[in-house]
Amino acid sequence: MDQEPYDILSMGPLELSALFTELQEPRFRGQQLFEWIWRHQAQSYKELTVWPKILQQKMTDLAPFSRVQAIHTQVATDSTTKLLLRLDDGNQVETVLLPHPYGYSVCVSSQVGCNMGCHFCASGILGRKRNLTAGELLDQVGYAQKILASRGDHVSRVDLMGIGEPLDNYQAMVKFIRLLHEPRGLGLSYRHMTVSTSGLVPAIYRLADEGIPVTLAVSLHAPTDALRLALMPVNKAYPLDKLMPACRYYSETTGRRVTFEYLMLDGINDSPVIADQLVQLLRGFPCHVNLIPWNPVDEHPFQPSPMNRVRRFLQIVQEHGISCTIRKELGQEIDAACGQLRRREEEILR
Ligand code: SAH
Ligand code: SF4
Repeated sequence: MDQEPYDILSMGPLELSALFTELQEPRFRGQQLFEWIWRHQAQSYKELTVWPKILQQKMTDLAPFSRVQAIHTQVATDSTTKLLLRLDDGNQVETVLLPHPYGYSVCVSSQVGCNMGCHFCASGILGRKRNLTAGELLDQVGYAQKILASRGDHVSRVDLMGIGEPLDNYQAMVKFIRLLHEPRGLGLSYRHMTVSTSGLVPAIYRLADEGIPVTLAVSLHAPTDALRLALMPVNKAYPLDKLMPACRYYSETTGRRVTFEYLMLDGINDSPVIADQLVQLLRGFPCHVNLIPWNPVDEHPFQPSPMNRVRRFLQIVQEHGISCTIRKELGQEIDAACGQLRRREEEILR
């Protein structure tokens, strides 16, 4: 029987050490390899110049790895950088580098497509093709790090907010978070990572108990079941009376304040009455609300809320003592909604 190929990019230092023992090589080569891939962004074993040539060749033959490649790179004047990355099997995902006063955040995709079918989103239109591996998740950050290093900078935050529902790819997501935290690699603190979810309740409880206190962002978008269900099919399985206790549990268990994301859709969920309903829903909950301007998606019939309605909504929520901000729009001229770039490319290929 053929041996399964080794998934080198999904392995942590301990797993790599065990692999080298199995291959009758010194254990420390495992840690060395991890450091070269994730700290120095080595693209192949040949770049491990600290290794004997014979070991480079042995590993190239036994356990080849290939890293993501950029098909498109768009850089906006504010330096927001949108990447369309090609995975080993030809599938494509989007990764975005966003400049902030504190440094760069990287928005990472978790799946090729998405099965949640939210009615405002480009990523769900064709459904989910497959999950990403932990290595493919991490390599998006690796690619971003390579670009930023060339600008004398580095990755400061990582947000799982690109294409896909991260909690629907649970195991790879948790492994990715742990690998990203590895001090021998990119060494990012859990506090500098955010997982965004449409609200998969059982997975929220599970994540709370993992001992990895990342920020949880929940895509709420509506304060009542009727409205939320009209926007997000996931609300049928996990309505608000299931979702809100899960968010509370997450906050209490991890000590982290939960963020609620709220898309502003003109005439749909942006009235003062609905703002009051949101206030009722969140009263007494230590949370932050992020109002998100909607990026138009051709296939969906909505319009973004005008700025005066967004400001009125913000004011009502803030007046009730709830922390609330409007998400700043970065990279305006390359502002296609997340998932659009991949979709456009697939249409060209079809
Ligand atoms: N699946 C996860 C994470 C990826 S989507 C989730 O839904 O939370 C990340 C965020 O982008 C979500 O809050 C989602 O509602 C939002 N989003 C989706 N389509 C958008 C669009 N066209 N414009 C702006 N934000 C959008
Ligand atoms: Fe999937 Fe998130 Fe888009 Fe909904 S908003 S379809 S969960 S990626």
